[in-house]
Formats: sequence, C-alpha cells, structure tokens
Amino acid sequence: MTTADERLQLLKKRIRELLPKDVRITDVQFEGPSIVIYTEDTHRFLDDSSLVRMLAKELKKRISVRPSSSLLKPPEEAMKILRKELPEESGIKDIYFNIDRGEVIIEAEKPGVCIGKQGVSVKEIAKKIGWKPLVIRAPPIRSSIIENIRRYLRDESEFRREFLKKVGKRIFRKKLSTDNWLRVTMLGGCREVGRNAFLVSTPETKVLIDCGVSVGSEMIPYLYVPEVSPLDSIDAVILTHAHLDHSGLLPLLFQYGYEGPVYMTQPTRDMMALLLLDYIDVTSRDGGRIPYKSSHIRDVIRHTITLKYGEVTDIAPDIKLTLYNAGHILGSSIVHLHIGNGAYNIVFTGDIKYEHTFLFEPAFNGFQRIEALVIESTYGGPEDIQPPRKDAEKRLKEVIERTINRGGKVIIPAFAVGRSQEVMIALEHMKLPVTVYLDGMIWEATAVHTAYPEYLSRDLKEKIYQEQNPFLSEIFEQVDDVDKRREVIEEKEPSVILTTSGMLNGGPVLEYLRSLAPDEKNTLIFVGYQAEGTLGRRIQKGWKEIQFSTAGKIENVKINMEVETIDGFSGHSDRNQLISYVADMRTTPSKIVCVHGEGTKCIALASALHKRFSVETIAPHNLETIRFL
Ligand SMILES: [Zn+2]
Ligand SMILES: [Zn+2]
Repeated sequence: MTTADERLQLLKKRIRELLPKDVRITDVQFEGPSIVIYTEDTHRFLDDSSLVRMLAKELKKRISVRPSSSLLKPPEEAMKILRKELPEESGIKDIYFNIDRGEVIIEAEKPGVCIGKQGVSVKEIAKKIGWKPLVIRAPPIRSSIIENIRRYLRDESEFRREFLKKVGKRIFRKKLSTDNWLRVTMLGGCREVGRNAFLVSTPETKVLIDCGVSVGSEMIPYLYVPEVSPLDSIDAVILTHAHLDHSGLLPLLFQYGYEGPVYMTQPTRDMMALLLLDYIDVTSRDGGRIPYKSSHIRDVIRHTITLKYGEVTDIAPDIKLTLYNAGHILGSSIVHLHIGNGAYNIVFTGDIKYEHTFLFEPAFNGFQRIEALVIESTYGGPEDIQPPRKDAEKRLKEVIERTINRGGKVIIPAFAVGRSQEVMIALEHMKLPVTVYLDGMIWEATAVHTAYPEYLSRDLKEKIYQEQNPFLSEIFEQVDDVDKRREVIEEKEPSVILTTSGMLNGGPVLEYLRSLAPDEKNTLIFVGYQAEGTLGRRIQKGWKEIQFSTAGKIENVKINMEVETIDGFSGHSDRNQLISYVADMRTTPSKIVCVHGEGTKCIALASALHKRFSVETIAPHNLETIRFL
C-alpha cells in the first residue's frame, strides 16, 4: 500500500467520525487537490452547507461532495424530469451533465427563479434525479470557445477522472525530505518583456510559473537547463494569465512529455485557448513556425485544474497555492505560494494593474504573510508615469469628436483581450452619435468576459446582473467577414473601428489602415504599448509612408491621417502604482525581485523600491537562481 493510500484510509476514518452517524459515505477519493466524498445522502449536504465547511476546516483540505453513482438516474431520464419540473419563467438556456462530478448544470437567464425560495425547488428535483444541480447564469453573449471547451471536457471525462486521481495521489504523497530551502530559477522574462518562466524548487517539489513566448521573436524560455529536466519531475505548472508572453509555450511542455496539472482560473483557461489557437493561426498564415500543434493546446486544456480567487489549494506535499485578482485582464492572477509548514510565503505578481478600471478591481495586496515578492516592472522607469484615467477618457472623446465633426473615421488598434473591452466601455459612456465597429477576435473575447461577471469590477458585474450590460449597447456592431469590412470602409458616414492587432503586426487593422490612411479626415489612435520593431511603433514615430505587400505586390501607402497616442488605458501599473502596490501591503516583503521589463526598467524599479523600503531588491538576469530560504 502506498503512502497516499494510507493517508486516504485515515482520512476516510476521520470523515466518518466528523459527520453525523446517519450520513452514508460510499467512498472517499483524492481528485486533484480535493478530497471528494461520495454519498447516498447528497440532500443532507444540500440542506446543511455548514457540513462541508466544517470538514474543510477540520481537515484543512478542499472538500467536494458528490452523489454515489448508484443514485444517478440515466441522463435522458433525468433530463425529462428537469424539463418538466423547472419553472418556465426562469428562462432555461441549456442543461448538461458533468459526468465526472455527478453534477447537472442548469443555465438559466434567471437563476434565482430556478433555485426557488431558499433553494427548495431545485433541492426537490435533486432528490428525484440523484444528480447534484448547479444553477448558473446563462452567458448574455454566446461564446463558441467556451462551448467548444465545455464539449471537449465532457468528451474527456473518463481521462479527467483518472488524471485527477493520479494528481491527487502525487499531491498527498508522503514528504520525503526534512530539509527546508526555497529557490527560484529565472528561465525567461528577466530584463525583457516576453517568454516568462520561473521555476520554484524546494527539496521536495518543483513548480513552474508561466511558460511564455517572446512575441515577434523565436526566443523561448531556457527549458533545457538541468533544473527543469526531466519534465515529469515538475509537480505543477501555474499560469498567471492568458497573454502569450506568459502562456504561449505551455503546449510545448506537453509536446516534450509533461503530463501533470496546470493551475489557473476558469476564464484564463478559455482566454488562453482563444489566444493560443489564434497564435497558431496567425503565425502559420504569415509563414512562421510554431513548435507545437493544436492537439497540444487540447492537452493543456485537459490537464487544467481551475481555481477561484482566494481558494487555498494543496499542490504538493509542501506547497499551498492561492490565486488572487491581478486587475490586469480577465481571470489574471497573482500567485501566492505558502511553502512548508508556515515557513515561507512568496508572491509572483504576474502582470498587475493597481488602480480601479472599468473592467476590474485593483490588484490584491492584502496578504496575511509575505516574505518575498517577484514583481513586474513593465513601467518601472522614472519616466513611466501615466495620466489619470479620467484624463485619458477626456482626450479620447475629444479626438473622436474632432474626427467625426470633419466627417472622418477613427481606427483604434487594440489587443483583443483586455484593452478592447476597456475601450468599449469608455466608448459606450461617451454616447457617440456613430457606430462602433468591432473587428477581429474582439467580439469573442467580449463574450468570454460577460460569461464570467464574478471576475469583473463590482460596478460592471452589477450592471450585467441588472441587464444593463454595456457590451450589448446598440452602438456596437460586429464585423464578421471581408464583405462587411469593405462596406465599413466604403461607407460615407463617420464611424469608430476597434480592431486587432494592437501593434499593427497583422490582423484586420492592416486592411483598414491601407484604405483609410491616405485621407487626412481620418484618425488613428493608439491606446496601447507599441513595441520596438512593430509597424505601430514606426507610425507612432511619424513615418509618412509605409509599404504593404498584397499578393506579392508591394504597395506604398501614404499616412496622411491624424495619428494620436493616448496613454492611460494600459492594463499595467505605472511606476507610481507599482510602488504604491508595495507601500500599501500590511507587511513589506524582505526580498523583492523585479522582472518583466526592459533591463533599465527592472533596475530602476529595483533601486526605487530599495531606497523607499530599505529591503533587498534584485533585478536578476535570465538563468540566475535566487535562494530565498
Ligand atoms: Zn499580460
Ligand atoms: Zn506580460
């Protein structure tokens, strides 16, 4: 008998002792980081939610309760009962079964009506069908990526069950070492923006945080160093957020044979899939090569374990993980690792926005304990001060109105994820007299945002719940094919066009630019960072003529349109916000590591934080290893 099995036996015994005698337990299993209790008395747990809380508190573990399989009515039969008994006025959109969890998910427009007073109606139905009902709000905009992922995971439920069992056994294995140390090896993303990857190691465990690409170059993280191999020595991978400089090479790990879990929030999973698929698509269209196939993206998805913000989760015998809101893009997380028995706490910020935005609450920094901090430094330089958001909105409005008044069109290039939705809400507030066209992946990304209102700012969440969803405003119109795009370009009336890519290095924006740039009535507005070497940066610097190659022919296009840059919409903290992020913590970490920024920015931020807080600060190079404990 292995040690994980022994622990399971002990847990079973303890759970029986803790629960009332008449609650029948059929089985107890490790499933990923959770302890799952199978019972014939699901209703007891539905009636008394304090039972699960009590168990979680006593055992200090994540607890899930599922109905024993013997209770489950066949799905077709259960479906009939559900259709008959659920109140019509709750607006049921979809019903589906999550076989590996014994759950039936009911998507309703009005979940409150469905659940009934004190949850009575749904509980009654649960007794009849055996399945555990989970009523969720139907997403206001359909998202094909979410539907595809859900379908895929349903098809993979057999695999998932085995996989989660295996992961559970590994997490709850017996600790072998009595040593206590902690180090982090920088595999990428130091003194640069791109290819983020940090390997956390203890005598017992290895955890990889992020595995990104350098967008626009071939450079990949240093995955071949001895610390990393063999890949199956890694216990867990954690993804902070979906942007490619953090997620772009996760599939490569699976190509190389990694078979373990990848932890992230649910919206990060969906956004990541969207961005990775698009990355393969765009790169191959441009004749580039990506070192993995779309089947490896599916591998990432079926190995993903999703966590909510604030859930403390065992990911190894000596590491507990908690994700917190990073305020940067949908689902973006700050990674808090609790090492050993309260020995040490290290936080990786990922990318953070420490300011209220339309979309998100500011990045979380209220940690109970934090000894070390690894912080992003994108805008860490002394000159990196951004104007207040209000000013940015005011300027945006001025420039757009000026253009409309002279009968011109406005092009706003933006990243599909994050900036676009922030700008959409700003545009919606302005009550413009023209149509705002959305082209590229923006609409799909917006759909994913509205599917997860609980990850959005309080204000926006309330609006969506009260059916005042600003994304559904009639000023927005989706452009979904080439003909429509032509129509938008040729239309006489002024309009605003929000489109990808953000730095003009591909995507529909180029088509608009080619046709609209020569006319001085039109305006191009940059709202995001333009990296060196991109077309966006060249136009920003004032180039008056650019070249397009269409079907092998080179075409020169004059840039006569007005070109404006409006700062203040960034999803990153500026220098002052980064410093305030540390200043506002309950306790100042005793070691701060500055990464994710050009060399000068990382050094500048490290020096500013050292002067201000008198703690050790470091701006490491790639391949350095820092010992923390
Ligand atoms: Zn990012
Ligand atoms: Zn980043």
